[in-house]
Amino acid sequence: SSWWKSVQPAAKDPILGVTEAFLADHSPDKVNVGVGAYRDDNGKPVVLECVREAERRIAGNLNMEYLPMGGSMKMVEETLKLAYGENSEFIRDKKIAAVQALSGTGACRLFADFQKRFLPDSQIYIPIPTWSNHHNIWRDAHVAQKTYHYYKPESRGLDFAGLMDDIKNAPNGSFFLLHACAHNPTGVDPTEEQWKEISHQFKDKGHFAFFDMAYQGFASGDPERDAKSIRIFLEDGHQIGIAQSYAKNMGLYGQRVGCLSVVCEDEKQAIAVKSQLQQLARPMYSNPPVHGALIVSSILGDPDLKKLWLKEVKVMADRIIGMRTALRENLEKLGSPLSWKHVTDQIGMFCYSGMTPEQVDRLTNEYHIYMTRNGRISMAGVTTGNVGYLARAIHEVTK
Ligand code: PMP
Repeated sequence: SSWWKSVQPAAKDPILGVTEAFLADHSPDKVNVGVGAYRDDNGKPVVLECVREAERRIAGNLNMEYLPMGGSMKMVEETLKLAYGENSEFIRDKKIAAVQALSGTGACRLFADFQKRFLPDSQIYIPIPTWSNHHNIWRDAHVAQKTYHYYKPESRGLDFAGLMDDIKNAPNGSFFLLHACAHNPTGVDPTEEQWKEISHQFKDKGHFAFFDMAYQGFASGDPERDAKSIRIFLEDGHQIGIAQSYAKNMGLYGQRVGCLSVVCEDEKQAIAVKSQLQQLARPMYSNPPVHGALIVSSILGDPDLKKLWLKEVKVMADRIIGMRTALRENLEKLGSPLSWKHVTDQIGMFCYSGMTPEQVDRLTNEYHIYMTRNGRISMAGVTTGNVGYLARAIHEVTK
């Protein structure tokens, strides 16, 4: 109609576009290592056994009532324990303002909106590279963006010096977005020692750390270990914010269940902050969806189901780590003169391979292998069945 004359088609999302192209390809050899969702060794999506069991238990006494604006408090309570620790003093002293969010994306967006509303002139420092949606989220929340160094192409590892310099050179009291573990897309995380240095530098500068934790448990297989960065900051007395997601670590992608939390001075401030977070949610979506939250609280609230979940997260993480080893070994066996050490050094769902956009294009056009042009391989799409083919193709286009 004439109302929408000026509307042009939006640019394609770089990640979702890959899946579309993959689906349109009819080659029997085709491989999708673009999508950031876990697959089993047969390339099939997985519903965890703990989730199936939780659903059976829920089915009997399910109603469809609204959750409160802040979401399921039982789910939030359990979720905070995962991030802050079972016996966290911040939880005990009720210093955390926390609400259920629409998965990790929704938690980031709610925080960005909160930041804009109460500190309208503040900026956010975002790592280069990062999950591309981070830029969209803070842009749409009208928060000005700055970037900081993170990745060093030469070593395919962390640019620690660049990162520390940027932290030092940022104006005191700046906001930084940090990936708590399993950095997307690079798979490069600071070591524990480096996190300690980062935390000290943040302290010196009075910066605010906002942790996006989309992969807790998915990096090492142990959610406690993957929360180390956060625990270091908490020990140093930082008042941080965290976005948590159950998309990856519980396989609840489409359920959109997550949590936003902000550490406050005291209980009174936490109550105020939470009420404002709810106020932001109200005109957007009123209240979050109930089903995923019920699944999460049923699992984490039951010692046996929680144990099963921990086992299943570890199975997923271990399969990915195993595929990293297999990919590297295959490339080395083929006699690739390049170093593929970074494939096993990097952690989490993604391997930032260092391949150029042109090499990726060749993988797609000649070998029916689909991935984003930044060279990011989703290790979750690599299987015993396709790792040899993938290695041969990578070897061919990089030699
Ligand atoms: N943050 C990062 C770094 C991610 O990789 C993702 C998922 N790709 C998310 C947040 C959000 O995912 P979701 O909204 O599905 O929880």
